[in-house]
Amino acid sequence: MLKLKNVSKFYYSKGVIASGFSRVNLELAMGEFVVITGESGSGKSTLLNVLSGLDTYEEGEMYINGEETSHYNEEDFEEYRRKYVGNIFQNFNLINSYTVYQNVELALLLNGENKKDIRDLVNGIIEKVGLTEFADTKCAKLSGGQKQRVAIARALAKETPIIVADEPTGNLDSESADEVMRTLSEIAKDKLVIIVTHNIEQVEQYATRLIKMHDGKILEDKKLVEPEVQDEDISRDFKDITLENRFRIGARNAFNIPVKFTLIFFVFLFISFAVAGTYATFQKQEYEEATYGWNEFFSDTSDTRIVINKNDRSAITDDEFAAVAKLDNVKKIIKDDTLIDYTNSISNEDYWYYFYGNFESIEYFDGELDYGRMPEKPGEIVLQGSRQNYDLREEPEEILGETFYMDDYEEDGDRNKNMTMTVVGISYSERNDWQVKYYVDNSILEVMRQRMALQDSEVTSSFAGNTYTSYSGDPYFQIVASDKVPRGKAYVSANFDYEVSDGNCLGERIEIDIENTYHSESLKVNVAKKYNKNNFKGLLGLDYSENHEGKVFINSKDYQELFYNGIFQSSVYVKDAKKLDGTLAELENMGFNTLAMRDALSSDGADVQQLISMIKTFVIAALIIALFFISYFIIKIVLKSRNAYYTTIRTLGASRKISKQLLDIELMITATIAFGLFMAFMLLVYAGVINNAFIFDLAGYMSAGNYVLMYVIIIGMSYMISTRFAKGLFKNSVMSTYKEEV
Ligand code: ADP
Ligand code: MG
Repeated sequence: MLKLKNVSKFYYSKGVIASGFSRVNLELAMGEFVVITGESGSGKSTLLNVLSGLDTYEEGEMYINGEETSHYNEEDFEEYRRKYVGNIFQNFNLINSYTVYQNVELALLLNGENKKDIRDLVNGIIEKVGLTEFADTKCAKLSGGQKQRVAIARALAKETPIIVADEPTGNLDSESADEVMRTLSEIAKDKLVIIVTHNIEQVEQYATRLIKMHDGKILEDKKLVEPEVQDEDISRDFKDITLENRFRIGARNAFNIPVKFTLIFFVFLFISFAVAGTYATFQKQEYEEATYGWNEFFSDTSDTRIVINKNDRSAITDDEFAAVAKLDNVKKIIKDDTLIDYTNSISNEDYWYYFYGNFESIEYFDGELDYGRMPEKPGEIVLQGSRQNYDLREEPEEILGETFYMDDYEEDGDRNKNMTMTVVGISYSERNDWQVKYYVDNSILEVMRQRMALQDSEVTSSFAGNTYTSYSGDPYFQIVASDKVPRGKAYVSANFDYEVSDGNCLGERIEIDIENTYHSESLKVNVAKKYNKNNFKGLLGLDYSENHEGKVFINSKDYQELFYNGIFQSSVYVKDAKKLDGTLAELENMGFNTLAMRDALSSDGADVQQLISMIKTFVIAALIIALFFISYFIIKIVLKSRNAYYTTIRTLGASRKISKQLLDIELMITATIAFGLFMAFMLLVYAGVINNAFIFDLAGYMSAGNYVLMYVIIIGMSYMISTRFAKGLFKNSVMSTYKEEV
């Protein structure tokens, strides 16, 4: 079975070489019950450790089943220990935080058995060593004799062909010692048992062979009985521990020492709060920096506003509006976007009341009416403004029912009275300025939109070989809508006769091209009528003034199709400005260009913002690294007491890799629970159960993605801590790790 040929073991410590034993020759066979004796320091333990693969040797050759082992590496010895050797130590090497049952079970779990399948087996073995009533007692509470019987039970459970016991009764009173020896002898049949002891009388009756050691050498080797069993390889082929059992043991280790669990748990909990707190604080700072500023093109620069248009500059369809409205964070869509930033003054007939503000659809009125009622028919509006506005505050009743006109003046100096607005409701807003909002119906919005379109467009007309470009305000070749003109026709000033060579412009074609940011359109019309100051009123129903000279009147429908051909730009308002980034990404995925007002603000803070962003990345990286080392050192101290545990499971046959995995799982479970508690806390904050304005505000800066990333970081940290710790733990052979421990 086992054969040593001139094997020597040396210890090197601090430049001094000590001999463990030297030039030992020995052959051990199955069925033998070998008792080794000798005074202290004679090399008995060293010999046992080499025989059980717990320690290496320097010279000679050890054969296992005839196979040389001098080329064995750590993994080969792991395999050997697992398949062949059950160890029993003087100081038991049990896992004190486990119960008797768990200690015995562990040996089997580590060797690939299933928890359910081995219940009877484990209970049977515990019965065999007479500990049934202590099965669920933690080993720490047992007497020395009981502990050693657990160790025997554990060695038994493994069913290995070799059992090695180093002074198993050394720490026991004589009565317990007798009992332990009897138990050992009972299980020894068919096995190779090697026992080191001082007390020969105790084992004499069972021994088949007696070896005496002195000063690292075998002094005497006496065979008392010839073994009955054939010496053959009866090693068991163990499976690897199942994944399920790795998690089972990892979880058991996470919880079975409450103080250790609590300490590591708090380390991870602290990491969670520290990382989240720092990150959210930076986000908040960055956000506040970003929302401070102004923009010269947009008057509504609220942080909840996003301006959108299509990537291809096409009109936004109803389906697209519906899809945008369905997004989680979208509060409302202002389709008539340009009107938001278009301010206009209105006044009543006798100019007594005058307001300055912008238009919004009555659909979006979400305030409360303080006076009057909601509009019921076209032309009725709700006026919303601050109480700081003197008229609104002092004379709301008088304003109700008043009719207002837009203050854009016709060329004759009179106001445009084509559109009237009657105030039927008044609402006070929280805004602190004197601007008001006109909540109007769609008929008014439509007129306003067309005005905007005209104002924003460049109009080029080709007529009789010439082109004329007209900007808003220039009356020559200004295009005007009129219901009196048939479709496809134009009524032009009689002066246009001078533009054509034959002196008569009737039937002449005018091609009108308009172009603005979003669309271009052409229209061809034929001159059907010529107007002058005498027929003007008759043709167009308007009073004549000289300002009309040069204008081109076309049909209203033609006009609308030409200038206003859909909605190209809108504004989306979000519910939560902190989640704006997510909404921007969603909109961009839907094919929109986006401009968040937050990002369109010019302010002196731009540099500060960049700086904060940079510092943020550095500080968070530094924080995570610092936290890693702090937690590593705390956890290392806490885990220090676990050295014995990992050495013990390695003597039971757990490989370095599996031991490390158990530690990974143990830390991962603790980290996950800590993170879970952190998340539970955050959910309570979001739900408002934990009512703290400061935390709630900060929590708003964290997104689901942030939390996922945090979890990944924390699990990554626990993995790295485990790796670092394991490196120190497994750098030596099993025995030297034990010795460092003791
Ligand atoms: P025994 O078990 O018979 O009392 P050991 O096998 O423990 O003796 O020790 C044999 C010799 O090896 C002793 O001289 C001891 O001092 C030495 N020795 C044992 N372990 C170590 C070690 N880790 N480092 C240095 N010397 C050691
Ligand atoms: Mg010893």
